[in-house]
Amino acid sequence: MPCVHQLARTGRAGGSELSNSALKSWYEPRRTAFPWRADPHPYGVLVSEVMLQQTQVSRVVPAYLRFLEQFPTPAALAASPLADVLRAWKGLGYNRRAAALWRAAGVIVAKHGGVVPSNPAELARLPGVGPYTASAVASFAYGAAIPALDTNVRRVVARHRLGTSGAGAAEVLRAATAWIDRADPGGWNAALMDLGREVCRPEPLCAACPLRRGCRFRTAPAEGGRPGRRTAPFEGSMRQLRGRIVDAVREAPSVTVAGVAARWDEPEDRVAAAVAALATEGLVRAGPGGRIRLGN
Ligand code: SF4
Repeated sequence: MPCVHQLARTGRAGGSELSNSALKSWYEPRRTAFPWRADPHPYGVLVSEVMLQQTQVSRVVPAYLRFLEQFPTPAALAASPLADVLRAWKGLGYNRRAAALWRAAGVIVAKHGGVVPSNPAELARLPGVGPYTASAVASFAYGAAIPALDTNVRRVVARHRLGTSGAGAAEVLRAATAWIDRADPGGWNAALMDLGREVCRPEPLCAACPLRRGCRFRTAPAEGGRPGRRTAPFEGSMRQLRGRIVDAVREAPSVTVAGVAARWDEPEDRVAAAVAALATEGLVRAGPGGRIRLGN
């Protein structure tokens, strides 16, 4: 199967030029809407993409600005204790991302001279960086002409180019690669992301869509109803408990399993299991007497 670079070289611009330019006009005011877009330096883009993986953009913006002030470079991040990084991650959730980003900074310093690599394959080898984040950093920060396929972009591409919401991954990648704006791939990818989040949502707002001319989905026969994806409930989940434990040790230098169990009305063995899992990931340290500290 051809790689994304081969597809990028051989792909032809497709679709209605009219709707493509309408999308670019629609995106223009959004081009500088976030600090990592206004100043898309590779380290900032990497930090923002990791933060955005599972956190809403409104919460990411202030956290991003604080984080960059405290850790302005990969070298500064790598040289800081993990506990400081976890404290700076407060409010973002999914704390293992902070530990992975800290480890990625160490690799960037050790193997890439302190500069975030531009090659998507090298990016994807960094801790916590998957294929989507690697493509996003390569296109946003370095102008690589490759699609960045998050859920929203996949939905837009599948609908507009293929006329369905149920296309396979390879088919969507081919269509996205042929469609990308090679003059501004980062802007194009960001425009598709915004469009998928705001307009081409699971229930699409086609009347307000700049891509409505030439959209194959809009004119295709209605698809049969497909079962929606179920989201696991957060309340009472292990993820909630893990977050509470990290929050507790972030606030106090040392807390105990029993203290966490009492505070959140949880069985001690469940808290101990969550602490053991967090310790394995390096997010906390478990000490004698059930004491818990931030990892380091
Ligand atoms: S016209 Fe509708 S289905 Fe097509 S891209 Fe726009 S919002 Fe999505």
